[in-house]
Amino acid sequence: NQLEKASLFDVMKWAEAQFHHCLLETPEGEFARRYLMEERGYTEETIKQFRLGFHPDNWQWLVNRAQGIYAAPLLAEARLIFKKENHTRYSDYFVNRVMFPVRDERKRVVAFGGRILPGSGSEGLAKYFNSPESIIFTKSKLLFGLDEARQRIRETETVVVVEGYTDCITAHQFGVSNVVATLGTALTETHVSYLKRLARKVVLVFDGDNAGQQAAERSLTKFISQEVDLKILTLPAGKDPADFLEEQGAERLKQLIEQAPEAWNFKLNVCVQKFGLESIDGQHRILEEMLELLAASPNLTGKIREDIILRKLADRLGLHEAVVRKRLSEVKQ
Ligand code: ATP
Ligand code: MN
Ligand code: MN
Ligand code: MN
Repeated sequence: NQLEKASLFDVMKWAEAQFHHCLLETPEGEFARRYLMEERGYTEETIKQFRLGFHPDNWQWLVNRAQGIYAAPLLAEARLIFKKENHTRYSDYFVNRVMFPVRDERKRVVAFGGRILPGSGSEGLAKYFNSPESIIFTKSKLLFGLDEARQRIRETETVVVVEGYTDCITAHQFGVSNVVATLGTALTETHVSYLKRLARKVVLVFDGDNAGQQAAERSLTKFISQEVDLKILTLPAGKDPADFLEEQGAERLKQLIEQAPEAWNFKLNVCVQKFGLESIDGQHRILEEMLELLAASPNLTGKIREDIILRKLADRLGLHEAVVRKRLSEVKQ
């Protein structure tokens, strides 16, 4: 099994080199290269740092290049190629896509993310997809960019988590280097318990779109009870971190990150926006929704954290702490 893993790491590294070479050195890669450099604004340095690549529009491209070097079943186990149903021949898994290598914390490539190129005739296909899981790739554990971000995370004692590969890469290019990305999945408890060990402060930055808002609220229920200094930032409407950086620059983003509200306070702000603080009914609903969140986090019960949150909540709503506390115990039953 160790041996098997070693060969998988090896074949992934080889594939990464094929994609990277194709992007930077060949005519086939030119369209993708222009997309990354001209449309996304990536420098050659950035492309090399993250070893971005391109897989051309040919279902047999990798299969053919591996001939005489790697056996097909090994590539299949690495989830680089697969057999379509009722087919005898292998096909490449990614086709006509920009390739984002996903590394583990020891810098070994364990998976790829692939993005279609705009205007390449792939409209209607998923914009992104990732390698399926394999014995070296567990999606819920991995964070894109962690190998590059690690040092800066330590220095700042803060890890910033964004939604997209491109957000992470753009952040690094702008010198915001304590940034990692989830792989298009929600942040899991596994991620958080891992992040906690890396840094005291975790800031989740979500896109200013519906998906981002929803993901932000979902992440709350999962993490409010974790013993971590969690802050949540949602960006202005229509913007994600990459867009924001291009329009407003690194200093402004750092400022927003710095000022991001704590998770529970983020939720309170959402409730205030939704129900309004002015009316009795509004205040009542805010209280109920906030208490529901607390009640849904059983391991907060009796903790100092819960105490602090309740006190601040009572304060913001202008209620007596005892009233809020009593209501919470009712909601919990
Ligand atoms: P880009 O700027 O390249 O359009 P993005 O990162 O802003 O990409 P979003 O649509 O905001 O893309 O999605 C966030 C993340 O979710 C992506 O980086 C990707 O990992 C994942 N994702 C997006 N669309 C899909 C999809 N159709 N299928 C699977 N994963 C996706
Ligand atoms: Mn989005
Ligand atoms: Mn984007
Ligand atoms: Mn986005």
